[in-house]
Amino acid sequence: MAQEDVFKKIVSHCKEYGFVFPSSDIYDGLGAVYDYGQNGVELKNNIKQYWWQSMVLLHENIVGIDAAIFMHPTVWKASGHVDAFNDPLIDNRDSKKRYRADVLIEDQIAKYDEKIEKEVAKARKRFGDAFDEKKFRETNPRVIEHQQKRDALHQRYADAMNKMDLAELKQIILDEEIVCPISGTRNWTDVRQFNLMFKTEVGSTAEGASTIYLRPETAQGIFVNYLNVQKTGRMKLPFGIAQIGKAFRNEIVARQFIFRMREFEQMEMQFFVKPGTEMDWFKTWKKTRLAWHEALGFGDECYRYHDHEKLAHYANAATDIEFKMPFGFKEVEGIHSRTDYDLSQHAKFSGRKIEYFDPEENRSYTPYVIETSIGVDRMFLSVMCHSYTEEKLENGETRVVLKLPAALAPIKLAIMPLVKKDGLPEKAHEIMNDLKFHFNCKYEEKDSIGKRYRRMDAIGTPYCITIDHDTLNDNCVTLRDRDTMEQTRVPIADLRSLIEDKVSITSLLKKLQ
Ligand code: ATP
Repeated sequence: MAQEDVFKKIVSHCKEYGFVFPSSDIYDGLGAVYDYGQNGVELKNNIKQYWWQSMVLLHENIVGIDAAIFMHPTVWKASGHVDAFNDPLIDNRDSKKRYRADVLIEDQIAKYDEKIEKEVAKARKRFGDAFDEKKFRETNPRVIEHQQKRDALHQRYADAMNKMDLAELKQIILDEEIVCPISGTRNWTDVRQFNLMFKTEVGSTAEGASTIYLRPETAQGIFVNYLNVQKTGRMKLPFGIAQIGKAFRNEIVARQFIFRMREFEQMEMQFFVKPGTEMDWFKTWKKTRLAWHEALGFGDECYRYHDHEKLAHYANAATDIEFKMPFGFKEVEGIHSRTDYDLSQHAKFSGRKIEYFDPEENRSYTPYVIETSIGVDRMFLSVMCHSYTEEKLENGETRVVLKLPAALAPIKLAIMPLVKKDGLPEKAHEIMNDLKFHFNCKYEEKDSIGKRYRRMDAIGTPYCITIDHDTLNDNCVTLRDRDTMEQTRVPIADLRSLIEDKVSITSLLKKLQ
């Protein structure tokens, strides 16, 4: 199946099974805003819990906060967001569609990469075991030509972005003959800057009202609380502050479902370190964060690092962790070495001294910061994309199963009486009332057992138990495994110990140690 079709199926599966709904659905939705349904919210909460506990429980020197979304407007002046949180936008006059100029050019660069990979794949097939890929890449005339064009374009693009030369960005689009995917024409407007922050007003009277912003990242809530936390928590460097919360960006092009939203959620951790040690900590956090992703068991080939060549004005190193989505490798998390930029800026704009007194060196300095920043919704999407599976069964039927890591699954155990009579529902409720304190259980009595299994497969429930007439005599139930579909007879008294460990967030956290 084409990857585009797979993605469409995942989007409709999310709606059909109560994971993600368009916002204000009965009014036909609101662009790039989504609501999480009864199963989605559980999966999302489990992702957040996995992240939070990996930060705050596993690191003695990381604590959490929960800062407000509204902040003093000067915060965003100091952070550079008022002046520089812009995307270059361009419109196509024929289709009236709006694009990010940088994304159009990056897609063009990716096209050259694809051409090169196609040549390599063709040659690999032709030469078989004797294929020397390195030599082929260095000597094949077509590959060399594509590579030269790609590198030249990349250099030109990087220079234009670094200088934010809008005329040059437009010229690149024209020279590369990039067309609008909708109208197919090259009838482009000039490139303009567009600030991504949402504005609103606080204050009840028009005269007294002042403009404030919806935060475009959670990080600034951490920076402005650095002194509060460091002092009240008696924190010693190095230490971290973690936060999960909503962020808002007026994205120009909001496509690909929950990958790019206007209201989304971030999990960010700022790690404050002694200046000069930041590169070591940057490397450490790169590894630590990749291990967090890999512990989910999707396979290491699903991830790659993308080191940034163009750095934000505040950074001295940056990398993304990309995940293999059905639409290509895409950023899920950013790890940035932000220097002392943010704390210094806030010191300058607030007039407060924001430093750390180092008792070992008997001097004060501004700490440097390593940031790890991951989008909850992108993480959710990556988990969904990897877990969605269509399996051909021996009887010719297809089953759709969400192979979610058990610790993330919305429901851990479905409890099913074989029939709705003969005391079986009562027995099932008795089991439920015992186990519900330990993990999320769902009572299911409607439809045939087969249909109930399929419904549970579709939402990724790792275990189901069936209560039948024998249960009333032998106190055993049939335990069915989602992935193997194997059924085993087990005593009710063993259920908790058989299931709890496998479905707990702790099981994931232990892999990180
Ligand atoms: P992109 O280049 O895709 O716009 P970014 O580099 O601007 O992302 P950061 O500012 O580094 O993103 O934000 C950190 C994380 O927040 C990203 O890795 C992503 O997971 C998430 N994120 C950022 N913007 C959005 C959005 N519009 N919708 C959903 N998640 C987002």
